[in-house]
Amino acid sequence: LNSQNPLKLLNTEISDYVTEKQKEIEELKRMETFRREFLANVSHELKTPIFAAQGFVHTLIDGAIDDPEVAIRFLNKAAKSLDGLDALVRDLVVLSQVETGELKMQFEVLDLVRITEDIFEQLEDKATKRDTKLKIKPAKIQECLVVADPQRIYQVLMNFIENAIKYGKDHGKVTVVFEEQKKHYTIAVEDDGPGIPQEHINRIFERFYRVDKSRSRETGGTGLGLAIVKHILSAHNSSVSVTSKPGKGTRFSFSLLKAD
Ligand code: ADP
Repeated sequence: LNSQNPLKLLNTEISDYVTEKQKEIEELKRMETFRREFLANVSHELKTPIFAAQGFVHTLIDGAIDDPEVAIRFLNKAAKSLDGLDALVRDLVVLSQVETGELKMQFEVLDLVRITEDIFEQLEDKATKRDTKLKIKPAKIQECLVVADPQRIYQVLMNFIENAIKYGKDHGKVTVVFEEQKKHYTIAVEDDGPGIPQEHINRIFERFYRVDKSRSRETGGTGLGLAIVKHILSAHNSSVSVTSKPGKGTRFSFSLLKAD
């Protein structure tokens, strides 16, 4: 029998070993390409606000400072670029911590309705600027108790709701919907904006991926929000579902364990 032939056995073992090593090499190559691309992306993203701030400051030094009105305008622009840089570095730190598992989740019982109301308050100015209505459904819901990390879930909801305002339409509506299941709550953030074209949907969770680069930068996005969200939810044994209809809107949803 073949299986008892020592030479044949040795042959199979060697070939298995080679296949395994080949796989390891492929994986290492993939990681190296990924690392190189990530570094290139990060450098590019860092350079953009740095160059902008530099430009404004140099123009000021070269004389623009003499006109107080121009000076204020340029200083504001420089400050905005530096704020963007600050947000980017913060997001990079969080992303690297969630990716390496360094950021330990602190699970506790929390009320998502209260968190949503806090976020609505935080985003009031941004919503007013676009005349976006912020709503909770069912309107009468008192509380939604789940087991989760409060700070991280705040960040998740903040990201979805802020995106819904940013990428939604003027005079639109953003609704946070709570749906009770047997053991979970499903939480959805819905907008009635232009939606996300199908071919982009699977990619929006990648670092720095944006459907419309200029729009995202102009609204102050780092392009890391959804990548961070995905990792945080995965640390909660949860994942994100996205459905989007062009011209009708987008719905991001996830589930969290109910507190009992
Ligand atoms: P950003 O910092 O660019 O907002 P995110 O990771 O939060 O980064 O989102 C990635 C991209 O997904 C955005 O640039 C935008 O193109 C798209 N996106 C996210 N949410 C929505 C939404 N509610 N409607 C339409 N597009 C969206």
